Amino acid sequence: MKLVTFDEGRVGRLDGEDVIELDVPSTRAFFELDGKVGETGERVKLADVRLRAPIQPKKFFHTAGNFADHHNELQAVDWSHPVHKGIVFFQNVDAVIGPDDPIVYPEHLTKELDYELELAVVIGKPGKFFTPEEAVEHIAGFTVFNDITARDIQRREMESGVFSFSKAIDTFCPIGPWIVTADEVPDMMDLAMELRVNGEVRQTGHTKQMRVSIPHLVAYHSPQIFSAGDLITTGTVSGVAAVQPNPFDFYLKPGDVVEAEIEHVGTLRNTVVSWQEAHGEPAPERVDW
Ligand code: MG
Repeated sequence: MKLVTFDEGRVGRLDGEDVIELDVPSTRAFFELDGKVGETGERVKLADVRLRAPIQPKKFFHTAGNFADHHNELQAVDWSHPVHKGIVFFQNVDAVIGPDDPIVYPEHLTKELDYELELAVVIGKPGKFFTPEEAVEHIAGFTVFNDITARDIQRREMESGVFSFSKAIDTFCPIGPWIVTADEVPDMMDLAMELRVNGEVRQTGHTKQMRVSIPHLVAYHSPQIFSAGDLITTGTVSGVAAVQPNPFDFYLKPGDVVEAEIEHVGTLRNTVVSWQEAHGEPAPERVDW
């Protein structure tokens, strides 16, 4: 099933070119009810609706360090601290945006706006302290995540070996275009990944390159307690702008169209817009200290 949130927060499932509305207030509630929800009887054309972020999770586990190729390419960036496998922080859920929503370039804060293609796992059954073998029954589905990052801010944060602000700025958390339920993904460890900017391929990878499997990753983080509808991200693949020999030719700028695609899951498309275009006024003064 492809589960969507559309228009003013209505929930539906795709049926070919149509959306069949489900009788549930949110996709999070859908997972809290273990998918046991009815239909409203409404059927609308997918082309006639506006897709929204597929879920507003209670918790958003933001992990990093699972792809060896990205880990290795980051050595070239010369962070003051290594990005260790297994690290996690809680992503700001208010920064979540959906498909075709604008990524707003905060010109007053960053000159190094970067992209990171990631697979996000949707938790269905809540739980804690479970094993990798048990994790499979907690994984309800998948969506695409683009971990938008202000590298110059991250570089300063990394002096303390942490990062959060650089990835938590308003609109920096695109997810979508829908949630594909786990039964529609033949093998979660066999998914091709590709990110394009203005049609040009920037990142390619494959979930089989993960250092630990998705069930292992989910089980590892389960002592932090999973609720139904929580998201956990799985790290990005090589090819981010920051590691290019000429990174300023690759950093995102207003007008760029970013397409983040994962096999069997979907393509998440967002356009970068200037602060002026988004807010109708110039970016405010930067607050610094
Ligand atoms: Mg990331």
